[in-house]
Amino acid sequence: MLTSKVDSSRGFSRFNLNSALERNLRSAGYDEPRPIQLETIPAVLEGRDVLGLAQTGTGKTAAFALPILNNLLESRRRRGTRVLVVAPTRELAIQIDGEFRKLANSTPIRTVVIYGGISERPQIQKLRRDPEVIVACPGRLLDLFGKGEVHLDRVDTLVLDEADHMFDMGFLPDIRRIIAALPENRQSLLFGATMPREIRRLAERVLQRPFRAELNHSVPAQTIDHALYSVREERKMEMLRYFVSQEDFVSAI
Ligand code: AMP
Repeated sequence: MLTSKVDSSRGFSRFNLNSALERNLRSAGYDEPRPIQLETIPAVLEGRDVLGLAQTGTGKTAAFALPILNNLLESRRRRGTRVLVVAPTRELAIQIDGEFRKLANSTPIRTVVIYGGISERPQIQKLRRDPEVIVACPGRLLDLFGKGEVHLDRVDTLVLDEADHMFDMGFLPDIRRIIAALPENRQSLLFGATMPREIRRLAERVLQRPFRAELNHSVPAQTIDHALYSVREERKMEMLRYFVSQEDFVSAI
């Protein structure tokens, strides 16, 4: 059975997070956990592996960043890079790094973001300060790992974000090389909006008895009304005119 730290209290206080994290959540204006956060945070706090089926925009980043930061703050004696987050695009990597920074504000935790297309030097300088968290795109990470600038031997938490896009973009061989460089004894989290067969296979190899966080995203967002009307082709325009004249739309497709 799944046990968790969740109790019936409202807001993020139900997770008993570090007080600095609670403060940062308040500053960010996060009052209530999102569904993916309700599911994922307790599992990650418990040290479980997670397979998360969730799209970007659902609050997925904080769903892993918050419990990871909490776990880091609770065991700060171990030094070196403890958390590696791999993302397919630089935009996503920058976004994830931003969320980590926002939530880790005023804590001693340092993060660095690594991606290609820009000079390596500033990234190398930051890596030499031994950041606890590295957020990286696969190519540049492997380049810098090959040059001995990235140390992965103390990583105890791995996050593969948008794993389905990593597969689409041909990064699976890189991902396998990265995983081979990590300690075997670690917590692993894998997220994707879809789970093609190759990603399920990767998940089976990488995750041990994972907690499955699945958001039913076939349901439209709560702010959207939708309906289906069956209309013969030749009457579509008539139907459309009728709707436009009857309904008070803000926006519609
Ligand atoms: P993500 O799915 O991680 O890209 O998050 C989507 C957006 O939701 C980001 O702008 C977050 O800052 C924001 N967000 C995440 N969790 C919460 C929350 N519990 N309350 C309000 N905003 C949130």
